[in-house]
Amino acid sequence: MFQKILIANRGEIACRVIDTARRLGVATVAVYSDADAGARHVAMADEAVHIGGPRPADSYLRGAAIIEAALKTGAEAIHPGYGFLSENPDFVDAVQAAGLVFIGPSGAAIRAMGLKDAAKALMAEAGVPIVPGYHGDNQDPDHLAGAAEALGYPVLIKAVAGGGGKGMRRVDHPADFAAALLSAQGEAQTAFGNPAVLIEKYVEKPRHIEVQVFGDGTRAVHLYERDCSLQRRHQKVIEEAPAPGMTDEMRAAMGQAAVRAAEAIGYSGAGTVEFIVDASDGLRPDRFWFMEMNTRLQVEHPVTEAITGVDLVEWQLRVASGEPLPAKQDDLQIRGHAVEARLYAEDVPAGFLPATGTLKHLRFPPGIRVETGVRPGDVISPWYDPMIAKVISHGPTRAAALIALARALEATEVAGTVTNLGFLARLSRHPGFVAGDVDTGLIARDLQPLTHPLPTPPAARALAVIAAAGLHEATGTGFSLWAPLRRPVPFEAPAHLQVIGPNRLRVEIDGQGHDCALHPDGWWVDGAKTGAQIHVVGDEITVFLRGAHRFQRPDPLARESSASASGLTLAPMPGLVKAVFVAPGAQVAAGDRLAVLEAMKMEHTLCAARAGRVAEVLAGAGDQVEAGAALIRLAEEEVA
Ligand code: ADP
Ligand code: ADP
Ligand code: MG
Repeated sequence: MFQKILIANRGEIACRVIDTARRLGVATVAVYSDADAGARHVAMADEAVHIGGPRPADSYLRGAAIIEAALKTGAEAIHPGYGFLSENPDFVDAVQAAGLVFIGPSGAAIRAMGLKDAAKALMAEAGVPIVPGYHGDNQDPDHLAGAAEALGYPVLIKAVAGGGGKGMRRVDHPADFAAALLSAQGEAQTAFGNPAVLIEKYVEKPRHIEVQVFGDGTRAVHLYERDCSLQRRHQKVIEEAPAPGMTDEMRAAMGQAAVRAAEAIGYSGAGTVEFIVDASDGLRPDRFWFMEMNTRLQVEHPVTEAITGVDLVEWQLRVASGEPLPAKQDDLQIRGHAVEARLYAEDVPAGFLPATGTLKHLRFPPGIRVETGVRPGDVISPWYDPMIAKVISHGPTRAAALIALARALEATEVAGTVTNLGFLARLSRHPGFVAGDVDTGLIARDLQPLTHPLPTPPAARALAVIAAAGLHEATGTGFSLWAPLRRPVPFEAPAHLQVIGPNRLRVEIDGQGHDCALHPDGWWVDGAKTGAQIHVVGDEITVFLRGAHRFQRPDPLARESSASASGLTLAPMPGLVKAVFVAPGAQVAAGDRLAVLEAMKMEHTLCAARAGRVAEVLAGAGDQVEAGAALIRLAEEEVA
């Protein structure tokens, strides 16, 4: 086993790797950017090396600086985590050239699976079923349209260099093909610097079922499947293992195909073979096809660990340090069922917009596995993926695991930013999902009931008014400082407050009165015990009462922004301008794409709010901009 390893990553995955390394007696070195000097992974590691500025390109993507840090600290091996450099074969080669061990597959194996077209060709050769489609070199639009016609609509256009669901377009009608192709190529060019696409038959009632594999460079075993069908825009939201409705026959067929895929490329370490499954007629062994292989540890690996009892990071360290595969296929078994939800700082009603903030309050319920890279007081910065945590439940049955997940999500408290907790909790109680009737379209079909804001309980509003007055933590003495006068409280709605006795207040809001009392067991409202928790961060008040309810104390300095009406396109969050599509003088229609902003690993397309002529372009590709920065200005509207 290694004496010391370096972890070339951040956030929850860096912390998770450190946990296992520590258990195995392996010393750890963290690397960090300027934005992460106080991060949890740095605090957890035995040593830490600063590697540059907050932008990934200036730090976590700087292979040479990371290798230098490993050499300087005497680390023998580098664990890449996922994302960043984990699937970069040139980095793997450089690590090995420096005399260090890369904890993962060879550069050659990563290259073989790096582009979706070449990977499909290779897999077809190895006898792995692939999605019917065209994955040749001819990128002529007419040729591609012909290939789509031959496959039969609907089809899916995919960037060959794609990842994270980018550069992908579903096309239902031949008339829409040309436009969809152009936009897929454009997105692929901006995101990956490679516009090439392939065409696939769009699988009906698609389920995403992937198989965890583990190789020693020659032979491989599989650790069963995960179902990741609950997706939003081709991004996984909730994952589980095993797959609901899986039969022994189909499991054996998928497991064998995945092992064949891994062995065909001499795979070493942990990897995932992703399949798309046509579930229109149940799960059948002749209805699954290879999509791609992710040559790294996957975000959702904990559900596999839960059902197999294997620590996949331990296996990674053991195999990379030269030990044989820790188990044979026959040693592996499935125990119970596990479900994982990805908790993000994001504004769900606003269309899942990534959010930032200081996690003034963060509490997870006991008795459930939580993987996180943040602690109370830490910041979700605009520089990286806004993940707060992964919450993983494990139970004897699927029903038990789902209930445990739903309860854990409902009991998780985050203040200081918006989160997708409510959405995840509702999703984990969704009747179709609970019945195991999943497919990748489930979330989109039921988006409205899953995402519409829940009505705020009146008691939560009343308590927020008390917090707005600064009395939520007051004691009897605190109250007695207030004269028993009815006084206005600055709040989102007209609100008044009156102290009417020791620990008793009367709150009036929107003309409605509430009796509020602070007892030793917390706040009571209108005679009912609430169990509510109240947290105030700056002007933001969060009341936890059957979910998180956020309120804003009015900021007297806030200015009403009429920017978009006046023709200004502003950056909605801090980020990197990836592309600007217009030049001064250009005529645009409402909804036209003006620019792409990359923030928190997601791309946001900024569109024209109205028609007009571009008067000024105030930012260019490569510029780092602040939230609210003006990017493009349209000329004044001509009044007829
Ligand atoms: P995985 O199957 O392991 O999630 P993906 O290809 O979906 O792999 O994701 C690749 C990278 O993108 C991971 O590093 C992950 O952290 C990040 N990612 C995945 N989903 C999201 C999301 N909703 N928002 C931001 N980043 C994400
Ligand atoms: P990425 O590299 O972005 O992860 P994938 O090829 O893995 O791209 O596809 C991402 C998601 O898109 C899948 O999980 C699935 O939901 C959907 N998808 C991919 N291929 C097909 C297909 N042929 N038919 C239907 N859905 C598909
Ligand atoms: Mg994928």
